[in-house]
Amino acid sequence: MNEPMSQRFRTPRWRALLFGAAAFSVFGNCNARDLIVHAGVLIDGVGAAPRSQMSIVIRDDKIVTVENGYTSAPGADIVDLSKMTVMPGFIDCHVHVNSKLPSRANATEDRLTHTDIDRAFDAAMFSRAMLHQGFTSARDVGGGDETAALRDAIDAGKVEGPRLWVSLEALGPTGGHADRLSGLDPQLSHPGWGLGLVDSPDQARFRVREHKRRGATVIKIVASGGIASTGDDPRQQLMTNEEMRAVVETAHSLGLKVAAHIYPASTIENAVRAGVDSIEHGSFATADTFALMKAHGTYLVPTLSVFEVFYEAARDHPELLRPGTAQKELANDLLPKRNLSPAVKSGVKIAFGSDLGEGDHAMEFGLLIGNGMSPMQAIFAATRDAADLLGASDTLGSVQPGRYADIVAVSGDPLKESQAFEHVVFVMKGGVVYRDH
Ligand SMILES: [Zn+2]
Repeated sequence: MNEPMSQRFRTPRWRALLFGAAAFSVFGNCNARDLIVHAGVLIDGVGAAPRSQMSIVIRDDKIVTVENGYTSAPGADIVDLSKMTVMPGFIDCHVHVNSKLPSRANATEDRLTHTDIDRAFDAAMFSRAMLHQGFTSARDVGGGDETAALRDAIDAGKVEGPRLWVSLEALGPTGGHADRLSGLDPQLSHPGWGLGLVDSPDQARFRVREHKRRGATVIKIVASGGIASTGDDPRQQLMTNEEMRAVVETAHSLGLKVAAHIYPASTIENAVRAGVDSIEHGSFATADTFALMKAHGTYLVPTLSVFEVFYEAARDHPELLRPGTAQKELANDLLPKRNLSPAVKSGVKIAFGSDLGEGDHAMEFGLLIGNGMSPMQAIFAATRDAADLLGASDTLGSVQPGRYADIVAVSGDPLKESQAFEHVVFVMKGGVVYRDH
């Protein structure tokens, strides 16, 4: 990272000096405190055709104009990315910012020997890494108060990280994928372990309202069993349709979207009819399921990265996973990749999600492209379409006037080499440079 440049654009004194200068010179669309990014190639997240030699004029934290050719203005600072491909900042719609890679620690031991405060520090470290990988926004679908606090610390400029949407604890039934007590001595208890449990429509309404009060900006449900959890079956529906409907009605009435972790086709269909906004994983969906999702405008977030990472952990380090889950991983983790191609062909809306915290979030690009998406479709999934799923298309996901100046650049051609996504060399969020080579 180029420290002087980064510091320069973030120092309030520098900003203040520029505000002073602006009073004396205004030149058309530009004035003295503007930044002008020269983009060798611009993929703007709006049109499918890349454009060469473009200029992006940035004032404060927003994009003012996008112009043909390399423009300049007296007093404006030029950010030279003329040798780069420039894209909107990436958006990961399924993260757990506090979660370690499964190959790094024993999951049960780690959970029982660390506090939420420990996890907050992990989350700060992993979210900074995520931003430096090019992810300027992310949706955390299963954390706690520490995740909401991290979001606020990032917004306040105390910690580096993406703009975060947070769900707090995932909502689901006793004994389900999100029940922290599953597989442990049932006499154990922890005040935080019940905060996601929902066993009736009334509890569902209460939990959604309570999560909103605690700072949730999205709601997550785990409507079917899962894979990395002990004692539940990923092929079973575990929430009732009435509970799902109660969550969706309450969340939507409060302006919150609902993300639903689901594997089986029939449960996906029930959740789509209940009105959820996205299906997370969706691994056992059929052609009929995708058709129903398409008809309802429901997003699919395939999360191929987590299956890759957990399959390897189950194969090489089964002792690190939660009790009894390695077999579930080995039996199920190869299916999602096979099911991506039919999803793409069906025309269902797809948003980018890795399901990672620690680790390389950009690996999802290679997996999407290697299993049925074109590079441009993968870019749209991580920019324009992800912003739409967040409900933030007017501020994020494209390089257009009025959007936040969230910009990344890679040195190769991402439309030809999918590895280029894993070598982001420039990251700007809200007009502030966080990475420059
Ligand atoms: Zn997840």
